[in-house]
Amino acid sequence: MHIDERELGFATRQLHAGKAGDDTHGARATPIYLTAGFEFEGLDDGRARFDGTSDGYSYTRVANPTNAAVERRIAALEGGAGALLVSTGQAATTTAVLALAAAGDHIVSSAHAYEGTRELLRDNLGRLGITVDFVADTRNPDAWAAAIRPETRLVFAESIANPRNQVLDVRLVADVAHRHGLPLVIDNTLASPFLLRPIEHGADVVVHSASKFLAGHGTVLGGVVVDGGWFDWASSAGRYPQLTEQRGADGRTPVERSGSNALLDYARSVAMRFGPAPSPLNAFLILQGVETLSLRVRQHSASALEIARWLAAQPGVESVDYSGLASHPDHDLAVRYLPDGFGSVFSFTLRGGLAAADAFTRALRLFTHMTHLGDSRSLVLHPGTTTHALRTDDERDAAGIGPGLLRLSIGLEDAPDLIADLANALEAVAAAIPGFVDGPPAAPAGGVPADAVAEAAA
Ligand SMILES: *Cc1c(COP(=O)(O)O)cnc(C)c1O
Repeated sequence: MHIDERELGFATRQLHAGKAGDDTHGARATPIYLTAGFEFEGLDDGRARFDGTSDGYSYTRVANPTNAAVERRIAALEGGAGALLVSTGQAATTTAVLALAAAGDHIVSSAHAYEGTRELLRDNLGRLGITVDFVADTRNPDAWAAAIRPETRLVFAESIANPRNQVLDVRLVADVAHRHGLPLVIDNTLASPFLLRPIEHGADVVVHSASKFLAGHGTVLGGVVVDGGWFDWASSAGRYPQLTEQRGADGRTPVERSGSNALLDYARSVAMRFGPAPSPLNAFLILQGVETLSLRVRQHSASALEIARWLAAQPGVESVDYSGLASHPDHDLAVRYLPDGFGSVFSFTLRGGLAAADAFTRALRLFTHMTHLGDSRSLVLHPGTTTHALRTDDERDAAGIGPGLLRLSIGLEDAPDLIADLANALEAVAAAIPGFVDGPPAAPAGGVPADAVAEAAA
């Protein structure tokens, strides 16, 4: 009996969508097709697999059955028409951007972007003649509109940004982009499709670092580009000649060949030529993670809310940037866009600056001090000396990334154990820095309107 996958719940889809068969042996799990290439049956078959008129596989840099199973599964979870799996999140962003923009083109991006993305857009793609403007006032539609130029080819933003947890009004930005005939590309890494599906709110393309919540266990890197499949490339008057004019080996343009999936079609050629192919072994591990995504992210979010509330009540903590707290400037957007949980990556600022942050991270036992997020284990990072080290002091100040700011990624351990670890570290800071806990209590500290938070989370 045929099941319409779109009617299934999220947890069912994360286990069954885009089923990957093993026609030969009936293996229930998705087989790992660890092979560089696939045998051709004669010259006509080889030609057809090369020019794309055959569904058969040719070479794993182009496509692979294990990778394709992950693509179908993630596309189903995001509500997209299709997906492209690549080797890292950075490769996903690079591929999506290069599929849309070329030398002379322009990108409008949220200023609240992952540092790797910010540097990619500004420096690396800048050297290729693609320019970017960053919008800081992301809640203001006029700020987005003012940044758009005739050469703009895409609008880029993150659904939830780090480290300060800004939540994007996806619908607002999609509307501005669409009024200008532009697609909105969303990096949905921190939310994961369990918490937020940007395509449902008007986004056209979604990218992920699958290294984070999708894979979920801190073992492999991966990235994915999901195409909503509804942007009308042909109507945008010569803006995307790579989709509407450039002909492939079969003599057709991506729009002629793939219709609404034209972008993904072309993105696949970008990935194939630039070469960030994922290993089918890594693809398998990403799929393994995806099958428990809802369970993990629900637990990550519940623990993060509990820990954020606890931190906000500690005298040694100056502020907590968690969108699940009523004190966060984007709490209203979080309540609107994140009904199933507020995510588990957030930051807080210790009194006592750099010395306090140093003593604190050294004293932690369960939290691992490293760069990464979305791991099943809890992690801590000091952005000022790592991810944001290339920024000037003024830029860090403007972004609210002070010397005492630490980023947490709350894992799947028992929350009381994590709180005990944090409490112990706060005591260690107090022992190392005279007067540390004697500071005034954190702003509306206990003041976290607990009821409001619980209500919002319910
Ligand atoms: C980690 C991350 C990336 C980059 O992903 P990699 O898999 O490390 O290349 C991009 N965007 C966000 C929001 C991330 O957290």
